[in-house]
This record gives sequence, C-alpha cells and structure tokens, in this order.
Amino acid sequence: MIKKVGRFLIKYEECDEEFIDNFPLSYLEEQYQRIKLFFNYPNELSTIRINFHYSKEDFEFFYGSKHENWISAFTSHKTTIHLFSPAVIEDVTIHDSNSIIPSIVHEMSHLFYGYSKLQNIELFNEGIATYFQKKECNTKINFLIKSLKSNDQKFIYNVGHLIIYNLVNLFGEELTGDKLIQFIKAYDKSYDDNKLLSLFKEKVGIDVNELVKE
Ligand SMILES: [Zn+2]
Repeated sequence: MIKKVGRFLIKYEECDEEFIDNFPLSYLEEQYQRIKLFFNYPNELSTIRINFHYSKEDFEFFYGSKHENWISAFTSHKTTIHLFSPAVIEDVTIHDSNSIIPSIVHEMSHLFYGYSKLQNIELFNEGIATYFQKKECNTKINFLIKSLKSNDQKFIYNVGHLIIYNLVNLFGEELTGDKLIQFIKAYDKSYDDNKLLSLFKEKVGIDVNELVKE
C-alpha cells in the first residue's frame, strides 16, 4: 500500500501499519529544514518517496549490487529512499528498527547533496549525512589526516563525521554549510593530497588536523 504523510510518500506492506501510524513527521520535517538550510538549497525537494523492502532480493534489485549486512538504506533517482522495512531489518542487517528514522535523515542529506549538484566527495557527503543522522560524535583519532581522498569506508564515515561535527561546533550549521560548499566547489580530483589539504584550510578557514585534534 502507498500512503502520503506530509512531504513523504511511503510504500509499505500491512505488517508495518503501526510503524507508519507512528511516523514522526514533525521530527523529520525539522530535520529536512535543517539540512535544507545547511545546503542553502533554494527550492523544496519534490515529494520524497520511501520504498520499504521486504527481502534482500527486492532490495538488491534496486541497489544494483550485492547487499552487505551493514547497509540498510540508499537513495536512488527522483528523490527516492530505499530501506529495509521495520518488519525485516533485524533479520537481514546488523541494525534494528530504531535505526530507520535516523537512516531516513541520513538519506535526506544525500538527496540535498545530490540535488545541489555538488561533486561527490565521499568523505564530505557521508560526513554530512552521518552528522545529521547522529547527535553525538564519539570518534577520536590518534593519527594525522594525510588525505581527503580516502576510499576506506570506516575512515569516510567516522572521520567524515568527526570533521563535520567539529566544524559545526566551531561555526554553527549554516556557516559550516557555506564554507564546505565553497570548498567542495573548488575541489579538484586532479589535485594532490597536500594541495587539497591547503585548499580546505583556505576555504574552510582551519587546518583539518587542527580541527580534529583532541
Ligand atoms: Zn550515506
């Protein structure tokens, strides 16, 4: 069945009726507005479609590759968020149904990043999304960041989150968004690591290692 709840259009099955009845629309609307302001996005996103999946096969059909058990959500074209349903998430992922609403917030951040037509720098795309998903950041690092081009998923999520979390503590959300977008727009994949680190310092106003040190 399909139900419109605020700006969301949700596709689900009867076993999730109760979850949909308790859908925290006002919380999600607040997060939507926060993220919109962060990206300084001038328009409203079109209706956000939430597609709950009930099997790995169905999820993989849209995901396009093999599902790993730490993945519970992703976005696809036309403002669609795909998630494992509350009824099955515990069986097929390492997450439980309490993670679903934070995941929707995380994915909304990816929608704004994508619709802002920013080049995808994973460290920042995931860092921003994880910042909006989680209130606190418990990551501590005891090494120097030498590159902003990492492919390491653990580094991307944890260090990305730490960078954004500390930036917001320093500058607030709106200014952090402005500064980061300046940096992302100036980011050039052909630059070497040192050039990107100094570009970060120039556009954001602080050395990244100064930012994350304890
Ligand atoms: Zn993500």
